[in-house]
Amino acid sequence: MKRTILFALAACFALPTLSRAGEGFDVVTLGARGGIEDGNLSAYLISPHGDPRGVTCDAGALVAGLRVAEAKGAFDTVTVPADSPYTRVGYMLTDRIRGYLISHAHLDHIAGLIAASPDDAKKPIYALPSVNSDIEQTYFNWEAWPNFGNRGKEPLLKKYEYRDLPASGKVELTGTGMSVTAFPLSHGGVESTAFLVENGKDALLCFGDTGPDEVEKATRIADIWTAVADKVRARQLKAIIIEVSYTNAQPDKFLFGHLTPAWLLKSLHGLEEKAGKGSLKDLPVVISHIKYSLKKGPLPQEDILKELQAGNDLGVNFIIPEQGMKWRF
Ligand SMILES: [Zn+2]
Ligand SMILES: [Zn+2]
Repeated sequence: MKRTILFALAACFALPTLSRAGEGFDVVTLGARGGIEDGNLSAYLISPHGDPRGVTCDAGALVAGLRVAEAKGAFDTVTVPADSPYTRVGYMLTDRIRGYLISHAHLDHIAGLIAASPDDAKKPIYALPSVNSDIEQTYFNWEAWPNFGNRGKEPLLKKYEYRDLPASGKVELTGTGMSVTAFPLSHGGVESTAFLVENGKDALLCFGDTGPDEVEKATRIADIWTAVADKVRARQLKAIIIEVSYTNAQPDKFLFGHLTPAWLLKSLHGLEEKAGKGSLKDLPVVISHIKYSLKKGPLPQEDILKELQAGNDLGVNFIIPEQGMKWRF
């Protein structure tokens, strides 16, 4: 109760920092799948626990995800100010989401942002330079859609400010109290991104689409494990959101820059090697980007979870997300 009053007061006076390091993150699944269900594509709202100001990691679904999350009670503690013209969904979109981290410009990672753009508020898009350039040239170009960006084909509506992220350099997430470090990923010939979001000593790692290092002939994922090994050992890395697009039945030559349970397990063992035996025990690993199935039979998420559990001698806490789910990590 006291806590609620404190947050309400803090919100009234718009204190610059509401959260404290060590309290972890609140994560809401706005979009759980990697295809083909429009309205439920990759998007995770991340904020420090108890701090209303967040960013999304990808934006495949936005208003659709906010609506489902609202219906499931994920925003029950959010109070819309009396003088706001917005519904709670509108308030979440325009006020609480302070920016977007976009891993790559594939449609299933940005469709929600584009659809919501006419009614969205001014905010930054954080991405690697190649990704921001793809967004500018492919979507906000006055052909696919009006140019809501601050670069590219004129006139510039300047609702979204492109913030080019340096590879492996820490950047403040304006108006959130958090920072982000972008790590490039190899995704079947496309540059994708993993984002390390930090609040004080707390960290959370959110991956965009990625193939296995061995198949992509790269060391992208291994390099990220090297960068975060200390945080894993110190239990400061609170969760990993990472894709598994196919079951183990998918042959390597048809991965198209994605992971299977076997490849993810192999990679996580690589992380454990760097961070120390037993260091991944109970670490929440959210499995994103599973494709919605139109076929009869077992759901792909059930098969994928079984395959992950079968090789889980790491003690990792694998989580299959559903749209609207909220966790504290
Ligand atoms: Zn995708
Ligand atoms: Zn992709």
